[in-house]
Amino acid sequence: MLLLLWVALLPMAGVWARKPKHVKEPPVVEQEVAVEETDTTDLDIHDDFEAMTEGMPVGVLSRLVGDTLFVNCTQDELPRFLIVMTDDGESQYRLMPAMLWGDTSSTHPADSIYPLWMNTRVNPYQTPVDSLKDSIPVSLKGFVYPLKNLTYVTSGFGFRKYRFHYGIDVKVQVGDSIRASWDGQVRIVGWDPRGYGYYVLIRHDNGLETIYGHLSRPLLEENERIYAGEVLGLGGNTGRSTGSHLHYEIRYLGNAIDPATIVDFEHGTLRAPEDYLITKKGTFKHNEEIKQLKQAQYHKVRQGDTLSGIARRYHTSVRTLCKLNNIKETSILRLGQRIRVR
Ligand SMILES: [Zn+2]
Repeated sequence: MLLLLWVALLPMAGVWARKPKHVKEPPVVEQEVAVEETDTTDLDIHDDFEAMTEGMPVGVLSRLVGDTLFVNCTQDELPRFLIVMTDDGESQYRLMPAMLWGDTSSTHPADSIYPLWMNTRVNPYQTPVDSLKDSIPVSLKGFVYPLKNLTYVTSGFGFRKYRFHYGIDVKVQVGDSIRASWDGQVRIVGWDPRGYGYYVLIRHDNGLETIYGHLSRPLLEENERIYAGEVLGLGGNTGRSTGSHLHYEIRYLGNAIDPATIVDFEHGTLRAPEDYLITKKGTFKHNEEIKQLKQAQYHKVRQGDTLSGIARRYHTSVRTLCKLNNIKETSILRLGQRIRVR
């Protein structure tokens, strides 16, 4: 599908031009300006134009009229160095040169919430749920579903056999575009062969962090500014994954939130209201389970083991063992079976 995008450049020419722009009023009357390599009739516009269109695929570019850039392409073809701000989600995009946001050494998204900015660890914050405020308002405005096409959830958030699944798995094909959910800054572009595979972690301006795992290819660099809807990588099957899918996490101060409480994966829309309230009791009600799971201890069944024998050994009761493992006193134990004892 070919969209004609109307593109308004913010009146910040002096900031984003490669060389300082000399004060000159932009043309008031809309007028088509032919811009070619040899065009030197208006150097300022030429320079700006080059800065604006660097890296843009050939054929995508349409024309510059006044200070408005008309682009003829699909959303996917929009060049990454330009930041896409979806206005009405369909036809209007405001493009801003990424270099405006190039220097981010001093501030990062949600600096008032997060104690540090780190490119290595997914959760370096050491902020357990118990230490959070009882309720925290978070704006979900501007949300963009990470996939272009609706697929289906292959695995939900929560317990999985002996571990906790901190995200939601959604079916994708290798090479599918994966998009950022909100505006923010890329904190990690990582490789975790036994877990996430290739993954991207974004800290958003609204205070949430999202993780996109099992990518075939991340398309960003750490510390880059990113906007909602911008393609951050391609879907894949890397890491601990069977069958290509996107592993999607939403976290607040390192603590995972069930994405299904915020996102409606069936429709690719928000489930929660835009003025969302994170609550300790509601949003993090799984926290108790996680705590228990972390304290959990297992016994591997060996020849001659009985439930009463195992109970004695771990100073617990047969009744407790049955409850923890959802088994009956008369259940037959298998060799090698893992029995939770604590
Ligand atoms: Zn997963």
